[in-house]
Amino acid sequence: MTPNDLAFDRDHIWHPYTSMSKPLPVYPVVAAFETTLKLDDGRELTDGMSSWWAAIHGYNHPRLNQAMHAQIAQMSHVMFGGITHPSAVALCRRLVEMTPQGLECVFLADSGSVAVEVSMKMALQYWQARGEKRQRFLTLRNGYHGDTFAAMSVCDPQNSMHSLYQGYLPNHLFAAAPACGFDDEWQENDIADFAWLLTQHAHELAAVILEPIVQGAGGMRFYHPRYLQAVRELCDSHNVLLIADEIATGFGRTGKLFACDHAGIAPDILCVGKALTGGTMTLSATLTTREVANTISNGEAGCFMHGPTFMGNPLACAVASESLAMLQENQWQQQVSAIETQLRAGLLPLKAQPEVADARVLGAIGVIETRRPVNMAALQRFFVERGVWIRPFGKLIYLMPPYIIQPQALKKLTDAIAEAVQQPGLFLD
Ligand SMILES: *Cc1c(COP(=O)(O)O)cnc(C)c1O
Repeated sequence: MTPNDLAFDRDHIWHPYTSMSKPLPVYPVVAAFETTLKLDDGRELTDGMSSWWAAIHGYNHPRLNQAMHAQIAQMSHVMFGGITHPSAVALCRRLVEMTPQGLECVFLADSGSVAVEVSMKMALQYWQARGEKRQRFLTLRNGYHGDTFAAMSVCDPQNSMHSLYQGYLPNHLFAAAPACGFDDEWQENDIADFAWLLTQHAHELAAVILEPIVQGAGGMRFYHPRYLQAVRELCDSHNVLLIADEIATGFGRTGKLFACDHAGIAPDILCVGKALTGGTMTLSATLTTREVANTISNGEAGCFMHGPTFMGNPLACAVASESLAMLQENQWQQQVSAIETQLRAGLLPLKAQPEVADARVLGAIGVIETRRPVNMAALQRFFVERGVWIRPFGKLIYLMPPYIIQPQALKKLTDAIAEAVQQPGLFLD
C-alpha cells in the first residue's frame, strides 16, 4: 500500500470504535496464512486474536478455501425467500446436531448483532403470541451483545455509553455482574441480585439474555457455572425464556463446545456467530426450541417477522459447514486444552508484576487485567515490533489464538505480554 492509500484510509475510512479526526494508527496487512499476518513491508506477525474470536483454524486454510471455491462455481448467492439450497441445509443440520439439546429451529442472519436482534424479537413475538405483555429483558452488568440498538440496549450501560442514546433506548434490567470466578468456590449470594430482579419483574420479562460463563468485550470475565445453573433454574421456575449469546464462546473456545456445557444447561434461544465460518465470511445463526418456534408461528403475525436480503448466503453457509466439519475432525479439545496449559504457564505468573491486577485463563482465552489503562497506540507498536498481533483495550491485554497455533508461536505471544507489563511507559496514568 502506498503512503497515499494510508492517507486516504486516515481521512476517509472509519475503523471500529475510532475517531475520524484523531484516528489511531492502522497496520496494512496484505496476506494472512495459518497463524501469521503479513504486513505490506514484509514483516510477519504471529496472530493472538483470531480476528476477534473468529479464525479458529488459522488463516487461508486450504479446506475452507476449497469449500468456498466449490460453492462459487455453483452460485455465490441466491435469495432465501421461497428458495433453499444444499449448503444451508447441510449447515443447519450440523448446527441442530451439535448445539445443546432441544434447539431445533434455525434462523440464519448476517452478523452477531443481528442474531441478537433476532433472538430478542423471537422472545417478544413469543409472548405476544401467548397474549402476554412482556417486553423487558433482564441481563448482567458488564455484558456485551453487539452494536445495533436492541443489542446495545442490553450491553453494560456504562461500557456502551447508554447515556449517549438516552430516550432512544428501551429501559431494561441489569443485575450485578457475577463476582464469583470460574475457579472460585461457589458463593450462593452471588446470584442474589439476579434472583431478586427476576422474581420482582418476571411478569413483565420477555427473556433473560446473557453471555454464558465468559463475559467477553465487556471485561473478559469468567464466572462460575453454578451461576448459570441458578439462572436456568430461576428462569424455569418463573417461566421466563433464557437467551444464551454464544457468539464469542461458541465452538470450543472455552474448553467446551458451548459455554453452556460447563453448566450442563440448554437455553431456549441460542445465538452463534464469529467462529461459525472459521473467520472467513460474516454469518450468524439464532436457534430455538420447537415450542418457541411453533408459538411464534401460531401467533397473530403467523410467521417470524424477519428476513435479511443475504439470509442463508450460500458461500457463507458452505464455508461454515466445512469449518464445523473440521472442528469435529481436528480434535479441538486437545488443541484448546494444550493452549490452556501453555497460557496458564505463560500468563498466570505475571500476577506478581506491579502493573498487573489479575491474570486469568479459560480454555483458549488468556487475559491480563492491568491496574492502569494501556496506551493503545504505544502498546500496539510495541507488540508489532516484537512480531506479534495483540490488540489490547482499556485495562485488558488478552489472547485468543487460532486453535492450530504451535507452542513456539504461542510462547512468542505470552513472552511479548510478559515483557510489555514490565514497561511502565506503556500505561497511562
Ligand atoms: C462480537 C459479539 C457480538 C456482536 O457480533 P457482531 O458480528 O460484531 O455483530 C454479540 N455478542 C457477543 C457476545 C459478541 O462477542
